[in-house]
Amino acid sequence: MTLEISGFVGQVLTPASAGYDQARRIWNGAIDRRPAVIARCTGTADVLAALRFARERELLVALRGGGHNVAGSALCDEGLVLDLSSMRAVWVDPAARVARVQPGALWGDLDREAQAFGLATTGGIVTHTGVAGLTLGGGIGWLMRKHGLTADNLASADVIGADGRLRTAGEAEGQDPDLLWALRGGGGNFGVVTSFGFRLHPVGPVLAGPVFWAMDDAPAVLRHYRDLMKSAPDELTTIVSLRKAAPLAVIPATLHGRKVCAVTVCWVGDHATGERFLRPLRSFGSPLLDLVAPRPYGALQGMFDQTVPHGWHYYWKSTELGELTDEAIDTIAHHASRVDSARSYALIFQLGGAISRLTGNATAYANRQAAHNLNVNGAWLPEDPPEIGQRERAWTREFFAAMEKHQAGVYVNFLGDEGVDRIHQAYGESNFRRLVALKTRYDPDNFFRVNQNIPPAP
Ligand SMILES: Cc1cc2nc3c(=O)[nH]c(=O)nc-3n(C[C@H](O)[C@H](O)[C@H](O)COP(=O)(O)OP(=O)(O)OC[C@H]3O[C@@H](n4cnc5c(N)ncnc54)[C@H](O)[C@@H]3O)c2cc1C
Repeated sequence: MTLEISGFVGQVLTPASAGYDQARRIWNGAIDRRPAVIARCTGTADVLAALRFARERELLVALRGGGHNVAGSALCDEGLVLDLSSMRAVWVDPAARVARVQPGALWGDLDREAQAFGLATTGGIVTHTGVAGLTLGGGIGWLMRKHGLTADNLASADVIGADGRLRTAGEAEGQDPDLLWALRGGGGNFGVVTSFGFRLHPVGPVLAGPVFWAMDDAPAVLRHYRDLMKSAPDELTTIVSLRKAAPLAVIPATLHGRKVCAVTVCWVGDHATGERFLRPLRSFGSPLLDLVAPRPYGALQGMFDQTVPHGWHYYWKSTELGELTDEAIDTIAHHASRVDSARSYALIFQLGGAISRLTGNATAYANRQAAHNLNVNGAWLPEDPPEIGQRERAWTREFFAAMEKHQAGVYVNFLGDEGVDRIHQAYGESNFRRLVALKTRYDPDNFFRVNQNIPPAP
């Protein structure tokens, strides 16, 4: 039996449909939810029709952009999944340096179109992550210290609200500036974004790549790295990874599976200056491998895609950190060195730069003074015996618990299923209060609640 949604021309899937099980798969293979309806939208008219259908039947609604949220908020049990993943078009205006992007686009889609004109905006570090969810939670990536968060580069957005009305968020005349403020970090709480407008920047080849040391050297490498980064200009963004070296083609087979501490750099600016600044890092101690080289920005973006494929089971914990104290470094190095799996890893994003030059209440994304973001990411295969999943969850939890006293806030986009307290913590008191007021204005019944939820006032 097929289900009809009046006015809807896209594909409608129910548990009885062929392709239903494929359609309810998302990036995190550990998420297994069974929506009553999956509505694959072809455009804004379908979004309106599906929302009307859900409202009339009081169905819970989940929004699916790229399907990469680790907590699985692209799916719900029983309700309707508004699946936007077929709406992937990107239009770039090179003269105005802006892009218009549909809500199912992935970072690879936007990077490809923008780089055709030597342009880019801050985006996620994995090309198969969705533009929508990443932008709405804030958006950190290789260009952030130079060009700010992804959300800081969001200039406008078309949004279908819980009342079925279209509003345009933005700061130009006739647009809604409060809604733009909320969308810059407040997630999917305020309606369905059907189109994003981004500012783009010239981004030529970058000086980029990882330098690897043995994991045993991590305490010394991280101290040296910390001291050097105190004078890092905005042109430089780095990410530290601690793991067993992945079997990527660019890494010699002799290193595969060896526990390593890597610092990956991205220098967006004059390469000679970058070479000079990076020399003391790259020559420190005894690097096992140095892959820093000029490369197209798009090549850096795709570099780690294969380390986080679709379908593996993932369990993440994340916290923001202040300065990397000796004690924090030793705790990180100790727990990272206990990793058993070839798939699990820890990452330390270097924040600051342009992000920290806006005040905490400039956008919904609040914690702009955090210096780092630590992710501890457990991963295993769907076919692994349950003990492996338990082991990787335990490694993640123990690592995270040991970092408790160093925690300094949280980034909503890396949150698992951890409850309202940490969502509140992500926004701080005054931003949370403003978000609640805006949620009450735009979505008083909490129609959009399958997300890192900001509850409306009672
Ligand atoms: C492998 C991997 C790498 C990542 N790398 C980064 C990174 O480098 N930087 C970073 O900042 N984050 C990163 N993230 C986190 C990422 O930002 C979040 O997981 C984000 O939610 C992904 O968005 P999505 O559209 O793919 O996900 P989805 O699961 O489809 O959506 C997540 C949520 O976003 C909201 N949403 C989606 N579409 C819409 C819409 N059209 N309108 C309104 N709300 C919507 C909904 O609330 C939805 O539940 C990464 C995640 C993964 C899995």
